[in-house]
Amino acid sequence: MLDHDQPKSFALDRQHMVALQLRARGIRDERVLDAMARIPREEFVPQQFRHQAYGDHPIPIGQGQTISQPYIVALMLEALAIQPTDKVLEIGTGSGYLTAVLAELSSHVYSIERHSSLAQTAERVLAALGYRNINIVVGDGSKGLPAHAPYDAIIVSAAAPELPLAMVEQLRDGGRMIIPVGSTQSQELLLVRKQQDETVLKHLEGCRFVPLIGREDPAGE
Ligand code: SAM
Repeated sequence: MLDHDQPKSFALDRQHMVALQLRARGIRDERVLDAMARIPREEFVPQQFRHQAYGDHPIPIGQGQTISQPYIVALMLEALAIQPTDKVLEIGTGSGYLTAVLAELSSHVYSIERHSSLAQTAERVLAALGYRNINIVVGDGSKGLPAHAPYDAIIVSAAAPELPLAMVEQLRDGGRMIIPVGSTQSQELLLVRKQQDETVLKHLEGCRFVPLIGREDPAGE
C-alpha cells in the first residue's frame, strides 16, 4: 500500500502515463509527448490527491473545478498543432497544468481564470517551476481576452453552449481554436480554423468538461 507520508518519486508514473494513456491511444505529436513527459503534474494537484496525479481521469482542484484528464489535454494540444512562435490564449487556467504544457510549446501564453484563488495557486506553481512566458489574468474569459488579440491559437478548457464568435474574431488569419461545445450532459470537441473570411469547423470527439461560466449565467458570480 502507498504510504502518503513518504516523499514519492513520480518519474515512473509520468513515463507510464505517456506510454499507456497517450502513445497507446494514438497521440503522436512528439513535442506534446515530450513536454508531458517532463512537466511534474503532481505539483498542480492538491496535496491530498497527489498520489492520483497521473491517473487516467480528472482530479478536483477546489472551487468545484478539476484538472483535466491527461489524454484530453494531449488530444487538444495535438489537434491545435502549436508552433514555437505562437501566441496562445487559454480560457480556464484551473490548476495551471495545461498552461505549463502550452508554455513549453509556444512563445507566450495568456491564460484567464474566473476564480482568483485558482489563478493565484497556478501562478505560484508556474513561477516556482521557472516559467516566464505566461500571463495569468483573473476574469471572465467567456468572450476571450481582446486586449492581447490576435492569437495564433486559443484553447478553451470549459464547455460553451455554442461556439463563441467573439473568440473566433480574436484568432489571426490561419489561427486555430479548440473548444468543447454542448450541454452539461453531452459535448463535442470542435477544432476551428480561421482562413481569410472563412471559419472551418472539424468535429473531433465527445467529451465532458465543466461549464464555461459567463457573467450573464445564473451560475456566474
Ligand atoms: N486545463 C485546466 C488544468 O490543467 O487544470 C483545467 C481547467 S478546468 C476543467 C476549467 C476551468 O475553467 C476552471 O478553473 C473554471 O473556473 C474555468 N472557467 C469556467 N468558466 C470560465 C470563464 N468564463 N472565464 C475564465 N475561466 C473560466
